[in-house]
Order: sequence, then C-alpha cells, then structure tokens
Amino acid sequence: MSYSQTLSDRLDSLQAANGDVLRVTSGDRTYEGTLMPHHDFSDPDVLVLKLKSGYNVGIRIDGADGIELVQRPEAPIRKQKEKTVAGDKPRIAIIGTGGTIASFVDYRTGAVHPALSTDALVSQVPELGDLAEIDSKVLFSIFSENMAPQHWQELALAVANELNKGAEAVLIPHGTDTMGYTAAALSFMLGEIPRPVILVGAQRSSDRPSSDAASNLLAAARFAIEQDVAEVCVLMHDSPSDDSFAVHFGTRVRKMHTSRRDAFHSINVAPLANISPGGVAVNHPHRRKGDVKVEARIGLEKDVVLLQYFPGMRPWHFERAISGSHGAVVAGSGLGHVNKEMVEFISKAIYGGTPVVMTSQCLNGATNLGVYDTGRDLLKAGVITVDDMLPETAYVKLMWSLANSDDVAKTMRTPIANEMSERREMHV
Ligand code: GLU
Repeated sequence: MSYSQTLSDRLDSLQAANGDVLRVTSGDRTYEGTLMPHHDFSDPDVLVLKLKSGYNVGIRIDGADGIELVQRPEAPIRKQKEKTVAGDKPRIAIIGTGGTIASFVDYRTGAVHPALSTDALVSQVPELGDLAEIDSKVLFSIFSENMAPQHWQELALAVANELNKGAEAVLIPHGTDTMGYTAAALSFMLGEIPRPVILVGAQRSSDRPSSDAASNLLAAARFAIEQDVAEVCVLMHDSPSDDSFAVHFGTRVRKMHTSRRDAFHSINVAPLANISPGGVAVNHPHRRKGDVKVEARIGLEKDVVLLQYFPGMRPWHFERAISGSHGAVVAGSGLGHVNKEMVEFISKAIYGGTPVVMTSQCLNGATNLGVYDTGRDLLKAGVITVDDMLPETAYVKLMWSLANSDDVAKTMRTPIANEMSERREMHV
C-alpha cells in the first residue's frame, strides 16, 4: 500500500525522497530524522523517520501536522550502489532469508510479515554503504520456523558461491527461532571458509522504535571487515543496550529468551567475541582469513529425529518416533539418561542400524554416562555420546554425518566446527 493521496502530495510538494532529513511537528512534539521507505504494510498516513539515536519512529500525519525538508543528503540512500566504485571497498554479500529482521508490522492487523526485501533492509542502514560495497539479494522470505534442511542446503550453496566470488563476508539476516540450527548446518556443510559468514537476526522488526535490526546488521559488517576471523557465527545483542554485541560460534549458540534482544547465548563456552564501546574482545582461537576455495558438502540425511526424554516416556513413544528414521538424537535427563525400560528398545534400534546419540536437556555441562547404572547400560547398548554438544547441533551433525561419513560414531565424536569441548572415550 502506498501513501495516501494527501500525504503523498505533501511529500511531493517538498520534493522529499527517502533518505532526506525531515522535521515533523505533530501536536506538541517535533521529530527530526531520515525518511525511510514506505512499505506494503504501512498505514497510508504514517511516515517513518530514522531518528539520530538510530531508532525508527512511525508518525501518523494529519492535515495540521507540519512537515519540513531539513536536508537533502549529497548521496541519497537510493544512489549508494551507483556511488560505490567496485574495488574501492570490500564487497559484502547479504543473503536475506526472512524473519523479524526483514519484517514490517502490518498496521491494519498488528501481525508481523517477513516482507522486506534485502535491499530495503540495507537502505535502512545507510552506514553500511560507508563500510563496504553491498551486494544484497533475497534467497527466502520466510519465518525461520518454516526453514527445513533443504533451505540450509540451498543457502550453503549460495554462501559458498559468494565466498568463491571473493566476498569479504557473507551476512545472513535470518529469523531468530531456528537461527542456531541454520548456523550449525552451515558450519558443517561449508567446512573451511576463507572469510566470515555471519547470521544476524532481530527481536523487533525494523519499523519498531526499539528495533535491533540495523544495529545487529551494522555490527556484523564491522566485525566481518575489521577482525581477522573466518568462522560461521551468529551476532546479536549482548545486553539490553544498543552498543554491545556477542559473536557466537554457529554450533554453540542458542536462543534462550523468547523476546529479549540479548536472547542469544553461547552454551558451554564463552562467545567467540564480545563487542562493546571499549572495543572487541576475541575469546577463542579461530580460523583466520585466507584464500581457501569453499567446497560445500551439503549432503544431509533428512530422516533424523530429535527427541526430548520426559518422565513417563514409554518404549513405544520412542519406537514410534524413530520408525522410518535413520538416526535419533535424544536430549536425555541430567548426565544423559532415560528410564530403564527404554534401554532395551534403544539397543534394538542401534543393532537395527539406527544410530542413537545422547545429549542432555540440561544444555550446560557435558553428558557423562559413566556415573550411574542407566548411563552405563546406555553405553553398553551402543549410544553415541557427544560430551557438551547442544542437542540441536548434534541433530544437525548427525544428519550431516550420515550423508558424509562412513564412520558416523567417529565423526560425531570428532570436533569439526567448535561444536564440542573435548573428546573423552567412555568405557564400561
Ligand atoms: N518466528 C519468526 C522467525 O524465527 C520471527 C522471530 C524472529 O525472527 O525473531 O523467523
């Protein structure tokens, strides 16, 4: 939906375009900021200004409100691409997948839609153009609960292609719900990479005043350019404030809060890096930038299940859940347990050729099946233990291992992409 005739006439009479600085006086309040693009879900009488603070504000204009043109930038946002001379600056590829970061609120229904093109998202962060030549495209426009393994495969190929074409970094705006799964999948599928791949999300859509979309995207671009790090990682807010960010290994990260902007935490390790106004602290050894050609191994066995053990789980729950599957990851209780009754059925599945991997629903800490009888029985049954690997990372790695390895148990227990801290052999 475009602007109403009245608002569009008023903007035309000022010859105001996106990127111009406007002053709007509405009642007793005055707002000054950059005019942002109007989108299909905007109210026709609302214009959106990006304030100096970085926040966006939507202002409903009625006839009495004043609109003035304050400044027209020399290089309007819409001209950024043409202004940038290739070779001048590093090229960053942005591959959009959807999620809140690429969403707008539909003011008619209040619902949030993944409707924003990557170009429009990028145009909301003019600072990106100062840092790099931005090459953006939309690969998917979906909420991440609709992501499936075939999306990870398509994305891995697109990322590999950009890196092999020389991109200084690939940024992936992504829905936050399953961003950890995609990050883990890319970590295994891409293998060694020459430059960073950073997934970014937002907990608030970019037209909300408290949106974290622009700040996360900009922080990711800066980190990618300024740091000598070539890893698949996730970057999100590190605190409620807009000036600290955490960069997480793609295999170690989890969404730990439904709505906070600092919802993402590294589990069992410190974040790869913390970014604050004081600077960047890189906390782990990591791969450095280079020239390696990416050989993506995108094979995945898609019939794998991830099960959470619960008290009262019956063997037939397990049998039904794994029927037709080629592998199972169980998030067991505590150190990695299930009830005694189930052990025999797990053993049957393993001897029938379905690997079963044990992780812990505690998330923090490693599994240890050597401590209690239940654990020892599970070891005898042949479950694969993966120390402190997250259940969802184990799920993705099992899919990948089944398609890419002749020795699934060994591959599962060998660290490939920072997904586990240590390797300890378990004996009974
Ligand atoms: N559930 C949606 C998704 O994951 C929106 C959440 C978000 O992006 O933060 O895409």
